[in-house]
Order: sequence, then structure tokens, then C-alpha cells
Amino acid sequence: MTTMLAEQELTKQEVRKQNAAIRVQDVHRIYQLGENRVHALRGINLEIAKGEFVAIMGSSGSGKSTLMNILGCLDRPTSGDYFLDGVNVAQLPKKELAAIRNRRLGFVFQGFNLLARTTALENVELPTLYAKIESDERLRRAKRALEMVGLAERLDHFPSQLSGGQQQRVAIARALVNQPSILLADEPTGNLDSRTSVEIMSILQKLNEEGLTIVLVTHEQDIAQYARRIITFRDGKVRRDERVAQPPRAADVLADMPALEQD
Ligand code: ADP
Ligand code: MG
Repeated sequence: MTTMLAEQELTKQEVRKQNAAIRVQDVHRIYQLGENRVHALRGINLEIAKGEFVAIMGSSGSGKSTLMNILGCLDRPTSGDYFLDGVNVAQLPKKELAAIRNRRLGFVFQGFNLLARTTALENVELPTLYAKIESDERLRRAKRALEMVGLAERLDHFPSQLSGGQQQRVAIARALVNQPSILLADEPTGNLDSRTSVEIMSILQKLNEEGLTIVLVTHEQDIAQYARRIITFRDGKVRRDERVAQPPRAADVLADMPALEQD
């Protein structure tokens, strides 16, 4: 009987592992700066299931961006394993990491990183150029991504003609255009006022409800609460990992906030 239970337990664990979008095992990252070594990640263990919405918090210098760069295949751990959709990518060559990045991951940054002389539509279309897709289909995908973030009416606007919140929505559309399975956002609301930040969170909540796995870095508690799980970093280690019992719906919070004069 005990063996059967133990077996069932084992199977459950296996199923959970296979269902993990992200599994990080004992990851360390040491930066070597001349004579100095900075031990930025000190044994991170994390499992994020498909469809989760996770916020990573922690003070400046605690290792959040270092982890995001590894999760985003922009950097490799000094030691430890990183399974992305079940495949250990920790020590893959850079070229293979780049291919995985383009296919499976979408990124959103604090600074939007849009091309200034390029319209919203063209900015969003850009990542599809690396995929082998026909131009009609590229256009269709870019339009659809902009519709998803509520910018169907702004296709031909340049970044300078858009508000900060709209620019970040363009950046989210750009991150989504190749239909990634995971969206990684590092302080996406860091440059935005509080109402616009909630607007961005309502878009992320909607995308998450549609099945997208989201990992978001923020140092603001009120932003983190919109996620369904909060992981807190300190000194390169996970200090806390907790579920949010009932995240507020950003769309509802938004409805109760005073409107801006101009969108
Ligand atoms: P956070 O995003 O939480 O503010 P980071 O991951 O950026 O933290 O940084 C963690 C630690 O690693 C800090 O001590 C930082 O100074 C150091 N660090 C980050 N990037 C580099 C780098 N490229 N070279 C050397 N040290 C770095
Ligand atoms: Mg950072």
C-alpha cells in the first residue's frame, strides 16, 4: 500500500515536472569583473508551471535581472540547470539559445525599446522577419497582436505620437507576435504613472487568462499583487515564494480610478 502511494506520488511529481514551463535547479551566476567576483545568484531553485503568472520582487541588486536574463536565454548560468519546456538549455551554444529565444520567448522591458522612426505596426512586425512567414501573414499577425493590446486604431503612429502606456502596449504586442509560450517582463511599469501601470497589468492579466505564462519583475508591491504568485529574492536567493489568494482584477481597479484627461 505504501509503495503504491509512493508510486502515485512519484507519478504526480513527474507529471508536474513535465508540465513545468520553467524549471531552474541550483542555478548560480558569478560575474567576473577583473579581480572581482560578484556572486549574483546563489543557488536558485524554481518551478513555474504552464499558465502561471509570477511576480519576482526584491530590492535592487538582489539578482532579479540576472535571473530574467538566464530565463530569457540571453545569458547562461555559471552552474546549475535550466529546463525550458522540459529541455535543459543551461549550456546550449549561443546560436541555439537565440533560436529558442525567438521562437518561445517574448520580452518586455522598462524602457519600451521601440524603434523611433518606425510605426507601431512596423515595430510589431519586426520579430516576424526572423521567422519564415509570408508578408501577408506577417502583417496579419502584427495587426492581431496590436488588437490584443487595444491599439488597433494606432497602427500608423510613431512612438513619439504615443503615450508611455501606449508605447508599452506596442512593446507587448511586439513580444507576442511570434506567439511565444512565455512572456518575460522586467519592470514593465517602471516608467509609467500608477493608472497606466494598472492598465498594463490588466492587459497582462487578460493574456494570462488566455493561457500565456508570465514572469514579471517589479519592485512595487501593488504591481506584484496582480500576479498569482510572488517570489521574493534577497542576496541572490529565493527568500519567499507565496500564492496570492485573490489577486484584484486590474480592469476593475481601473474602472474605479479617476480617468486621465487625455489618453
Ligand atoms: P536586480 O535586477 O535585482 O537589481 P541584478 O541581477 O541586476 O539585480 O544584479 C545582481 C548583482 O549582480 C548586483 O550586485 C549587480 O551589481 C551585479 N551585476 C549585474 N550585472 C552584472 C554584470 N554584467 N557584471 C557584473 N556584475 C553584475
Ligand atoms: Mg534589475
